[in-house]
Amino acid sequence: MACDVLLQGGWVVDGTSAPPFRADVAVTGGTISAIGRLGDLETADRVDVTGRYVTPGFVDTHVHADASADDLEVQEACLRQGVTTLLLGQDGVSFAPASARTIGAVAHYFGPVNGPCPPDLAAGCSVADLLAHYDQRTALNVGYLAPAGTIRAEVMGYQPGAADPAQLRAMRALVEDALADGALGMSTGLEYVPGRFADAAELAHLCDPVADAGAVYVSHMRGYEADAWRGLGEMFDIARRSGVAVHASHLHGPTNMITGLLGRAEDDGVDATFDSYPYLRGSSILAMVALPAEVQSAGPADTVTRLHDPGVRQRLARDWFSAIHDVLGRITLSYVGAQQWQWVEGMSLLDAAGKADMPPGELVCELVASSRGGAGCVFAQPPTNTLDDVRTHLRHDGQMVGSDAIYLGSRPHPRGWGSFARVLGRHTRELGDLSWGQAVSHLAGHPARRFQLAGRGLLKPGAVADVVVLDPATVADLADYAAPRTYATGVDHVLVSGAFALRDRQLTGARPGRALRRAERMTP
Ligand SMILES: [Zn+2]
Repeated sequence: MACDVLLQGGWVVDGTSAPPFRADVAVTGGTISAIGRLGDLETADRVDVTGRYVTPGFVDTHVHADASADDLEVQEACLRQGVTTLLLGQDGVSFAPASARTIGAVAHYFGPVNGPCPPDLAAGCSVADLLAHYDQRTALNVGYLAPAGTIRAEVMGYQPGAADPAQLRAMRALVEDALADGALGMSTGLEYVPGRFADAAELAHLCDPVADAGAVYVSHMRGYEADAWRGLGEMFDIARRSGVAVHASHLHGPTNMITGLLGRAEDDGVDATFDSYPYLRGSSILAMVALPAEVQSAGPADTVTRLHDPGVRQRLARDWFSAIHDVLGRITLSYVGAQQWQWVEGMSLLDAAGKADMPPGELVCELVASSRGGAGCVFAQPPTNTLDDVRTHLRHDGQMVGSDAIYLGSRPHPRGWGSFARVLGRHTRELGDLSWGQAVSHLAGHPARRFQLAGRGLLKPGAVADVVVLDPATVADLADYAAPRTYATGVDHVLVSGAFALRDRQLTGARPGRALRRAERMTP
C-alpha cells in the first residue's frame, strides 16, 4: 500500500470532540486513506508534522464572500486560520435564484456586505449556476443557502406587507428549485429589506419544503441583544409551524436570557443551533445600523433619492437622529464607496462628523446618499453583550463559528482574518473555554453534520481530505480593529480535497474547492 501524502508525527484532533491522539494521517486520491502508525507506508510526499495538531478543515458557517471567494486575499485569510469551507447566501440576500433586475437591486443594497455580483452571474442565475461558478475556481469549498430576501424581491420587488397566495406559491417554488439545485437550507435577514416585510406565517410556509428536505432554516433574526427574546421567539414559532431545524446567525446578547430560551425550545422538541464570533463589535451596512427602516422600505435606489431631499434630512434630524445618539456614538466607518468620502474610513462617526463640520446624522445621510448606499460600518454592541456572554455562547453545545466576515473597505472588521484562530488561540489555549477536542468539533464536525456536508468535518478513513496542520502552541489571530487585514499565525498546511491549498504558510495557487450540494436525505 502507498499513499499520495503522509502527514507524519502529529496529533490527530478528529472533530468528534475526542482529545488529541498521536497518529499519522495518509491521504490518497482526495480522501483520508489511513490513520495510525504509518511510518513504513510508501509515499510520494512525506511531511513531518511532529508536535502539530492535524484536524479536519473548519467550516465558516456565516461569511460574506459571495463576490470574493476566488479573491487571493480572502482565500489566504481563511486558509491561514484553517477554514476550508464557506457557507454563503447569508442574511437572506445574495445573487441566486434571481433575474438580472433583482440581482441589480439586491447587489446594490448589499454591495457593502457581499460585494458586487460577479459578471458571469449578473444576467440572472439559478442556484445551480451559482454553485458551478464557485466549483474549483477557488481553494475553498462553498455551500449556499437560498436567500429568502432575494426570493421575495424576485417575486414581489420591494413591496411591503403580506404576500398573496399566488406570490406565496411563486416564492415557495423558487425555494424548492434552490433546494433541488443543492442549497443547504434557506436564510433570512429580518432586519434588512425586503426580508423584514415577511412575517412568521410566510416564512413558515417557505420552510415547509426546507423541512421536507431535512435542510436548515438560518436566520439573522428580528432582534438581538435585549430584543433577542423576540428574534428567538419568532424563529422557534417558525420551527414549530413547519417542523424545520433552525439556526440563529451571529447570536450575541445576554446569555442568561438566551440560554434559557434555547433550553426551553429544546425541551419543546425544537432543533436549534447557532453561530457566533469572538468579538464585541458587529459590522453591517451603515443604512441598516443608522437609518430608520421606513426610509429604506422602497428599496435601495429609492432610499438614495429620498436622502438627497433636504426635507427628509430635516425630518430625520428632528425625529430620528436625536433619539439614537447612543447608537451613533458606537459607530466606526469601515467602507465608503464614494471616493470623496474615503478619508473617513477607520474614523469614528463622531470624529468624522467633527472633521466634516456637520452633525453626525447629516453625515450618515451624506455618506449613504453619495455612495448610493455603498457605506459600511463597524459598531460596538450595547453593554448587554459582554465578554462573559461571548465565552458562554462559545461553550454551548449548539454553537458553531460564523465569522460574518465582510471583505470590503480599508478598515473592515477583523473577524474575517481572525475569528477561527482567536477561538483556538485565545479561547482554547489561553482561556480554556473549550478543550482542543471540543474546539475542533465546534469548528468542523458539528457544522458539517448540521449542514449535511457529506464526508467532511471529521478526520477518519474514507472522509474527504480537507485537513489542517496547526501548531497548538502558537496558533493565534493577529488582526485587530486598527490593522484588520492581518493574517492569523500558527496554521502551517491546509489540504482541500487532498490537494495542498496552503503549504508552509504559503498559498499554493491550487483551486481544489468544490461546490457542496446538500446530501440527499437518507430515507429510513
Ligand atoms: Zn451576516
